[in-house]
Amino acid sequence: MNKESRRTFLKQSIKAATASVALGTPLLGIGCAKPETGPNDAPAVHARKKFRWRMLTTWPPTLFVLQDGPKLFVEWVKKMSEGRLEIQVYGADELVPALETFGAVSQGTAEIGHGASYYWAGKIPAAQFFSAVPFGMNPQQINAWLISGGGLDLWKEVYAPFNLLPLPGGNTGIQMGGWFNRPINSVADLKGLKMRIPGLGGKVISKAGGTAVLTAGGEIYTNLERGVIDATEWIGPYHDYLMGFYKIARYYYYPGWHEPGTNLEFFINKSAFLKLPIDLQQIIRNASAQVHHWMLCEFESKNNLYLQKLVTEENIALRQFPADVLEKLRTYSAEVVEEITADDVLSRKVYDAYTSFRSQITPWSDISEKVYYRNLL
Ligand code: CA
Repeated sequence: MNKESRRTFLKQSIKAATASVALGTPLLGIGCAKPETGPNDAPAVHARKKFRWRMLTTWPPTLFVLQDGPKLFVEWVKKMSEGRLEIQVYGADELVPALETFGAVSQGTAEIGHGASYYWAGKIPAAQFFSAVPFGMNPQQINAWLISGGGLDLWKEVYAPFNLLPLPGGNTGIQMGGWFNRPINSVADLKGLKMRIPGLGGKVISKAGGTAVLTAGGEIYTNLERGVIDATEWIGPYHDYLMGFYKIARYYYYPGWHEPGTNLEFFINKSAFLKLPIDLQQIIRNASAQVHHWMLCEFESKNNLYLQKLVTEENIALRQFPADVLEKLRTYSAEVVEEITADDVLSRKVYDAYTSFRSQITPWSDISEKVYYRNLL
């Protein structure tokens, strides 16, 4: 190549590179999620267009962490997009009741929602395996499955018929077993017990001879105080302390076998998402990833502060479930999952993927985390 033709070649290369940037060709790094593709993949055309969205959450408007996450999401999206995507957040019952948010976003009443996928178990049994499985994976393992083990792709497939795109949106960490007004010394003590416990855990309590009651967050305290229920689980020490359960139930049991790290979610109306230019789509992905990370950090950093307050200031009886009670609950949990997956092809597919990933990583967890916790911490 002589001097002149080298100069021409360089000029053409620069031109081509500039054109590629101008068109906003996405440069995907290793491990980046595949983008949703649609008819509007031309960001340059929409570059300065402004979008206004509504977000519906399943949480009371002032609930710490769980409602703070969606609020931070909105703030971060606004900053990253320089105001091109503004989202108004509505808590439970502000626009629609908590358990109707999924349908409302699916139908386009709002563009995005935040909640936990086990709330939709009545409509989509397979959905609950993306939130919490009794005696299932911990937050670190669930994240590994969702982000690097194909779990999120499967979750997208489950939500696709509803025109929804799911994204991981937080994790509560391992929860507590709950508040009881009598000690649980054997499985027999669960017989006749009326307990507020949602999801698969509730089905397990029913198998143990108890009655699982679904009570909205705002009514649990009064129901426990009046004896409408004998026991309740909620989240962990931080949130349980703020709910004041220690004033009306003495026994605080661990571990939260029924929710060993509940994964939370954003669910996005797919048509609305595809109308966004690619950079705003990516901003949504980034903000949700940031919320996902932030929430678990909040729970982990605050739980012990409040656990200590409960133990030292409120003098609660902190108890571990006896080993034989946990063993029995584990057996019932396996039966519950078996029954659900036997009746529903999609649940079977999701649960098979869940268990297959879990058994693939367990030998590693056995010689790393487990040994470290047991012997070195
Ligand atoms: Ca819970």
